[in-house]
Amino acid sequence: MIDETKSKIEELKNALTEKWNTTLLVKRDDLIHKEVSGNKWRKLKYSLLQASQNKNVGVITFGGAFSNHLVATAAACSAVGLPSVGVVRGEELNENSNDTLRRCAHYGMNLKFISRDEYNLRNERTYHEGLLDEFPNHFVVPEGGANYLGMIGCQEITKEISEKVDVFILAQGTTTTSCGILLSLGATQKLDVIPVLKGYDALNEMKTLMMKSGLEDEFIDDKLAQATVFDHYHFGGYAKVNDDLINFIRQIHSEFGLKLDPVYTGKAFYALWDQLSQGRYHNQTICFIHTGGLQGAAPFEAHYGPLFSGEG
Ligand SMILES: *Cc1c(COP(=O)(O)O)cnc(C)c1O
Repeated sequence: MIDETKSKIEELKNALTEKWNTTLLVKRDDLIHKEVSGNKWRKLKYSLLQASQNKNVGVITFGGAFSNHLVATAAACSAVGLPSVGVVRGEELNENSNDTLRRCAHYGMNLKFISRDEYNLRNERTYHEGLLDEFPNHFVVPEGGANYLGMIGCQEITKEISEKVDVFILAQGTTTTSCGILLSLGATQKLDVIPVLKGYDALNEMKTLMMKSGLEDEFIDDKLAQATVFDHYHFGGYAKVNDDLINFIRQIHSEFGLKLDPVYTGKAFYALWDQLSQGRYHNQTICFIHTGGLQGAAPFEAHYGPLFSGEG
């Protein structure tokens, strides 16, 4: 079974944290499961519970060819004995096109490959109705697990931390995880977020998701005032990397034994480190949420060589 109690808190110390008197904590959600990494499980947990309460016979979700969310859904559904359907962007693909899709198939996910045009309908109710004709009585989870239940699951992350934290820091894709964390903050706590997509209007995306979940406008604006977006650490866009980022990931691993992935946590931790070096977190306790994603490192290692030396 997938078990979020495996997530623990860890402190990292070195000359930089000492210089600024910063207590740097890492919430290790990457330890939850090797494939259903971190926040993907947090986001799915209550959707799967809802599906079982609804007596749904399966789950349908959506993703691109390299989606962490697809693999996570496949593995989580398999763990709870629920069939899963993955609607994948790209009609030219098949279950052997890459490692992500192979793993989805390995967990028994029924993969349905569709054109990019059709994929653009993935959030339309009428499109879901068509899918439900094909797969009756299934529970539909949006791409990235970006629904109300996903946000609720992510609120639990901060509740597991007993230390008094001033600032939480994490990577953003759909913003679901960061919205959950934001909603769980006390009035004086802050959130620093790092979108991994280029040209992404993070605050607007967060607002839209919270509005869809039925929260009030004024409440959302008050909450968003606790968040700061660092939108210049995307390294050119989603899944784009350079030598600087790869070297940084290697350096952090050799210094602290902490593994970061190139798509999400590597960029977010790079931002944290850069801001820490500039004194942003002087005299504060900060907590980096390690959202996982390490299974996504393989394609980068094929190009750059091993990221984490000294291990098989
Ligand atoms: C999917 C993912 C994210 C993004 O989470 P959102 O809730 O979509 O913002 C962050 N980190 C990792 C490792 C992920 O796989």
